[in-house]
Amino acid sequence: MISIDLSNQTAVVTGGKSGIGKGIVELFIQSGAKVISADISYDDPYRVVQPQLVETHLDISRPDDIDRWCNVLLNEAGVPDILVNCAGTSTMDYVIDSKLADWEKVFSINSTGLYVASKRFAKEMVDAHKPGRIIQIASQAGKNGYRAMGGYCASKHAVLGLTKVMAIELAAHNILVNAVCPGIVETPMKQRERIEGGIIRGMTAQEIYEEDCSQVPLGRTAEVEDIANVVLFLASPLSAYMTGQAINVTGGMTMH
Ligand code: NAD
Repeated sequence: MISIDLSNQTAVVTGGKSGIGKGIVELFIQSGAKVISADISYDDPYRVVQPQLVETHLDISRPDDIDRWCNVLLNEAGVPDILVNCAGTSTMDYVIDSKLADWEKVFSINSTGLYVASKRFAKEMVDAHKPGRIIQIASQAGKNGYRAMGGYCASKHAVLGLTKVMAIELAAHNILVNAVCPGIVETPMKQRERIEGGIIRGMTAQEIYEEDCSQVPLGRTAEVEDIANVVLFLASPLSAYMTGQAINVTGGMTMH
């Protein structure tokens, strides 16, 4: 019987306090990994919660804070084996009504922050001659367009472009870089988007939820575990021959 065992592995997960990131943290712990969860909603720079879990404050929208945070992590825990970039945000507005400040905020977290963190950890892995995994939580919005999500879609397209280039450049160092593209996942972010999207479209959040479900061939939206399971696979030896991929986890909603 094959099971995924990540004991002796250290994984860093950004956005680990809520939603998909929280699901990944929990599954990695169950698989034996030591997990360093990073989130803007943690207060402490480095708090050991239990032997397998450390919580760290990070504002990924600020390159100076990423630098500070990386230095703390490297000093306390050394170079990690796995980096999962899951911190993310979204704003909703039609492009012609949207604000530059919202665009910049979304990019600072979803794209620039992810780039700065990926670049720093990749460099540390290369310098330490450490094989590694970098897993980016992108989105279907990185492959398609969705109404009232111009900034978000553009920011996730950027993630997929970076994933492909990093995969090529880091392959010789045995650092595998892949992205996961979830469809519709039940998280606090999705609930907020349904309320904001409902105001724009004159619909209730419940009506948007029903519309969401009707678009998925498997007949339901995703739970965070559906996404975490695929991230675990990408962190494991079972995916040793995969790099530069953008894997859909959508219940069949999209197929390209
Ligand atoms: P969520 O809001 O539940 O979780 C996002 C987490 O990121 C939160 O814990 C938040 O505090 C953290 N975060 C936000 N800004 C931060 C910052 N500046 N620095 C550090 N941490 C910060 O949302 P979620 O739905 O779980 O989303 C997680 C990821 O999955 C995001 O990248 C999102 O774009 C992506 N995604 C979500 C869905 C979905 O349907 N929920 C679909 C596709 C992709």
